[in-house]
Amino acid sequence: MRARSATSLPLASIAQIFLAAVGAWALAWFALASVSEEAAFCIGAGAAMLVLMAGLRHARRQHARANATSALAKALLDANRECLKLLDTDGRMLRISEYGAELMQASGPEQLAGANWLGFWSGDEASAARNAFDAAIKGSRSAFVASCPTTAGVPKKWQSRLIPIDDGHGGVHAILCASLDITHEAELAADLRAKELLMSEMEAHVGLCFYSYSADYTYFHHVSAGCASVFGIDARTMRERPQAWIDLVLPEDRQQLYDAMQRITRLKTGGRARYRIQHPRRGVRWIQSTGNPVFDARGDLVRIVGISEDITVEQERLAELDRLAFSDSLTGLANRGALVLKIEERCRRNAAFALMFIDLDRFKVLNDTLGHTAADRLLKSLSERIQAALPHDAVLARLGGDEFAVLIDHASDKQRLAGIAKDILAALARSGDPSRADAFVTASIGISVFPENGADQETLLTSADIAMYAAKKAGRNGFSFADKASTERIVDFKLERDLPAALANRQFLLHYQAIHEPRTLEVRSVEALIRWRHPTRGLVSPGVFIPILEETGFINEIGAWVMDEALRQLALWRRAGARSLGVSVNVSSRQLRDAAIVEVVNDALSRYELPASSLQVELTESALMENPALAQRTLSALKALGVRIAIDDFGTGYSSLRYLADFSPDTLKIDRSFVARLQDDRATQGIVSGIIQMARTLGVSVTAEGVEQTAQLELLRESACDLVQGFLLSRPVAPDEVLGLSIKAVD
Ligand code: C2E
Ligand code: CA
Ligand code: CA
Repeated sequence: MRARSATSLPLASIAQIFLAAVGAWALAWFALASVSEEAAFCIGAGAAMLVLMAGLRHARRQHARANATSALAKALLDANRECLKLLDTDGRMLRISEYGAELMQASGPEQLAGANWLGFWSGDEASAARNAFDAAIKGSRSAFVASCPTTAGVPKKWQSRLIPIDDGHGGVHAILCASLDITHEAELAADLRAKELLMSEMEAHVGLCFYSYSADYTYFHHVSAGCASVFGIDARTMRERPQAWIDLVLPEDRQQLYDAMQRITRLKTGGRARYRIQHPRRGVRWIQSTGNPVFDARGDLVRIVGISEDITVEQERLAELDRLAFSDSLTGLANRGALVLKIEERCRRNAAFALMFIDLDRFKVLNDTLGHTAADRLLKSLSERIQAALPHDAVLARLGGDEFAVLIDHASDKQRLAGIAKDILAALARSGDPSRADAFVTASIGISVFPENGADQETLLTSADIAMYAAKKAGRNGFSFADKASTERIVDFKLERDLPAALANRQFLLHYQAIHEPRTLEVRSVEALIRWRHPTRGLVSPGVFIPILEETGFINEIGAWVMDEALRQLALWRRAGARSLGVSVNVSSRQLRDAAIVEVVNDALSRYELPASSLQVELTESALMENPALAQRTLSALKALGVRIAIDDFGTGYSSLRYLADFSPDTLKIDRSFVARLQDDRATQGIVSGIIQMARTLGVSVTAEGVEQTAQLELLRESACDLVQGFLLSRPVAPDEVLGLSIKAVD
């Protein structure tokens, strides 16, 4: 259909050409009829024929051109994404494009043909449309953006252009109106604008500075208006000079700020810094800045975003809380908490310092006679007097009630400390008005020195406290230094307090010292020696805590643990190859009083499948002496199991020989005090070899303890001592080192 209509001529053209041909024939006929009718007819017909053919050719060419033009126009129309309308000079729609009708939600172009275009707009929109239309009528192109509803009543936003079409005589005979549907874009833009507005309103009102920094901190992508209040720099200046805010940071805070900034980029994690700035209008302010890294799809750091805020108020509140927590409300001096922190800090630094504990004498009486308010006033004025008497770098604290303490740095010289104490007493005694009650205030002062009188705040304060009581006892209004004995008592007391938890916290362990055959030096057995790994004191010697364990009765519980642990360990060594190795376990007198030890030993031996003879129990003479009858009973039970018995520290008791008969031990351990004198003292040599001979006749083995020198070993060999033990041969070692000693392979 379409192809044929493009090539076939329209009927009107054919009619015109035909008429022209008839005209040509008639003209030839009239002109030539006078010559010959026949010739006239023939020539007329020929002319008509020629005219007819030329006309047809011309018409066909013209028609093809018109066809191409309209096809192009139609294609252009279809490709156009606007609503195209041809309006007449009254604003009626002559034509509307197919797509235009679709945009207007019409059933087709016909539905809108003849509709009043101006009538689609209302309100302000109507006058914008009218103005644009009027301008176009006057021959100029115009444009406007306005909303009008579709035929279905859906509001749409249009961007319209009006193009006048001139009539060839300087007038306008139609207007082309092209309207682009921008509803979606307009909504997006409005959305974005609303969000941006919300953001900037929020940013402007919260008083925070939001920023987006380049990954190398050289420029800002964004800085919110809040930077004007936080840094006193407006956002534009900040964007132009991105380092402007850093110039305000106090020099002493700058490094840690740089460090925090670098940590963010280096570790690629969020970070925070608190620092002070010199605000252009508000003086020194505390600022907190947070920064968070932002990465692109490849995981590369692209920027740092974050917030800076003024935290001065919060910081001041914290400082005030700190001040309240660490100061005494009456005198404004440091309180006990603050003093403790200062002492701990000096203990950590291992710096020499002294502590004075000041207690006012008979203040309770003053308090009762003066009343609380006056007594408080007095305390305040006394604190000022003490302060005035102190060296400028001393720290005065009020511990509570009428107790004060002074911390004096770099002071271990007792004479200087005595001088300061005398100054304090003199300052208190001095009073302007002898009629006043406070004229007669005196004090007692106790002084402790680090580390002599304690290595921690608790011991130092208690030492000074005890020394203060000594000063009171000595007649008041004086001072006294802490002594070593009272410090030791405090240390003991503190260990005692820590002991109950030590077992549960697995702070005990066993070391083992080898017992050798004196000639081959082969190891026959090991002695289990307890160690306490104290959380703050490190390894504590059994000489310190065993007496406390014995006094408090904990020795039973811990002794049972030692027994079990030593036998468990022995079984491991034996299984690992040391098949004839034996173990010695020290047992104290208190353990002998309780028959439970027999049960413990029996249980452990069978649990670890050990022969009873592999265990030797060591008892001191003093342990046996305490309650011989009870000890005898327990020992007999142990012996009945097959366990060996040794008398430890032999020779230090008073009636040594009696035990040989009463307890019939398997071994005597000659105390190391004899061994120590062996090489210089002939008498001792005689005693030692006498003990060995006597023991031999009784069938008792002898072990010499504390062998530290080769000469001692030589003499013990000569005296035919059975076994030797001492630092010369081996020190107590951890269990995993025992197999490294040369142990006798088989019995
Ligand atoms: P002890 O039973 O006389 O143990 C020997 C002590 O002498 C150990 O000290 C050991 O390290 C030390 N020693 C060994 N060879 C030499 C030497 O050549 N020179 C010197 N100067 N000393 C040497 P340690 O381990 O400090 O034990 C001290 C005491 O604590 C022990 O004396 C023992 O009476 C007691 N003890 C240790 N462990 C326990 C235990 O588990 N239970 C009980 N009840 N007491 C234990
Ligand atoms: Ca021992
Ligand atoms: Ca001993």
